Amino acid sequence: MSDRCCGTTAVEIEQIVAPAAPGALPVVVIGAGPVGLAAAAHLAERGQDFLVLEAGERVAASVAQWGHVRVFSPWKYNIDAAAKRLLEADGWSGPDPEWLPTGAELISDYLAPLAKLFGDKVRLGAKAAAISRLGYDRVRTNGREDVPFLIRLDGGEELRARAIIDASGTYVTPNVLGASGLPAYGEAEAGELVDHALPDVLGADRAAYEGRHTLVVGAGHSAATTLLALAQLDNAQITWAIRAGSAGRSYGGGAADALPARGALGTRLRAHVESGRIQLLAGFFTHSVTRSGGQVSVVSRDPSGAEQTVTVDRIVAATGYRPDHSIASELRLDLDPILGSTRRLAPLIDPNQHSCGTVPAHGVDELSHPEPGYYAVGVKSYGRAPTFLMATGYEQVRSVVAAIAGDWEAARDVQLDLPKTGVCSSNLAEAQEQRVGLATGISGGLLATPLPLATVGASSDGGGCCG
Ligand SMILES: Cc1cc2nc3c(=O)[nH]c(=O)nc-3n(C[C@H](O)[C@H](O)[C@H](O)COP(=O)(O)OP(=O)(O)OC[C@H]3O[C@@H](n4cnc5c(N)ncnc54)[C@H](O)[C@@H]3O)c2cc1C
Repeated sequence: MSDRCCGTTAVEIEQIVAPAAPGALPVVVIGAGPVGLAAAAHLAERGQDFLVLEAGERVAASVAQWGHVRVFSPWKYNIDAAAKRLLEADGWSGPDPEWLPTGAELISDYLAPLAKLFGDKVRLGAKAAAISRLGYDRVRTNGREDVPFLIRLDGGEELRARAIIDASGTYVTPNVLGASGLPAYGEAEAGELVDHALPDVLGADRAAYEGRHTLVVGAGHSAATTLLALAQLDNAQITWAIRAGSAGRSYGGGAADALPARGALGTRLRAHVESGRIQLLAGFFTHSVTRSGGQVSVVSRDPSGAEQTVTVDRIVAATGYRPDHSIASELRLDLDPILGSTRRLAPLIDPNQHSCGTVPAHGVDELSHPEPGYYAVGVKSYGRAPTFLMATGYEQVRSVVAAIAGDWEAARDVQLDLPKTGVCSSNLAEAQEQRVGLATGISGGLLATPLPLATVGASSDGGGCCG
């Protein structure tokens, strides 16, 4: 009973599959960040068996890396509804809904207690290295949707799943320094002299920056946050490189900015540039990085071939993030060619059209791939779009889990209650004055799109408020 001219027969496939019919298997969630753990909460509420795989040795390992940064959306937008119900049933009382937590507080006050509720259903140090269908490569079609997913972990162990919710984020795959999206020559060899976005300049990483000359590359708010922190070190020399011809977009609208905190950030940055505290290199297209002794020479080559060079002690690459779809390369994905989200999601999150507060509610329909049962969610679902908010991720997983549970009515009833701008701004001036100010970790996107200088309430003036 062969179903093709050569290779495995259908009978053989049945024999492989028989011991583990998909329905009896858990849903596997990849990543125990805010969105992966929210998915787990929804699965738990719906009585669906699940397992969360977390690559790090602690929950929310990526958030932990920017634990010193205070977020720009208040607690009320950062806690998933199902997670809240489970936590409250366990005696947890939530933090002040209007307060802006740091990444570390997100973990200690919310994500760690949530993960604790799930016990050994959250496996730490379990990195998903590859995903496929048991006995099926990407080409084989017949009966594909009836076989379990196969997940191979870094250490070689293999697991099976009835569905996969991939919430592995983008933080571990930052954009390169090279101006054209390709690595700059010598970038890899520069090694530890290049830090990715948001080092803890005033805290744990202070010694690496004090008394040194640092080049910050990038035009978004992560770059701005690092620059402002560096400016607080008396003896640090600071250079800032951007591709754009001027820093106008990075400065935002000052007092007229739709987002007051963002405007304030830009105003402070502008003052440092104008006073000479920060040296701005505009039109800087990073081409090569050459390590020499303890320093690095960074050469810009613009599209006309003109070069400029700067020699520094350290580089902070605040150039944004990109998704890594390689673990799912044996699955059938339909990706938007620009953003790397699903095609249906791309126009809804396009940073040329939307800020994070104007992204419409979306769920299982927008997140589905041709591969039934595989969903990339959370910040990974947005690909390179800098418009992601935890709140949108929570609605994504509510919808996806409802669909997995067969409740299509709930799955398609997607809702999101975000003010167009307030989610990103709420009384941030105070937080701004805190140790490291505000940041979003996403910086590259703003280079391509004008920051809205519009009045509050403008909804389609472009720019990612998360950028
Ligand atoms: C500095 C910064 C500030 C931000 N501020 C805000 C804000 O104010 N408000 C807001 O709404 N959003 C904010 N965001 C955007 C976004 O909400 C966060 O990035 C959020 O952490 C995304 O959640 P996530 O669960 O999708 O991904 P992540 O938090 O990135 O979690 C992914 C998890 O998957 C794990 N993982 C990765 N690969 C694998 C693998 N192969 N196998 C197993 N596990 C894996 C990682 O270790 C990590 O724990 C901010 C982002 C940054 C970087």
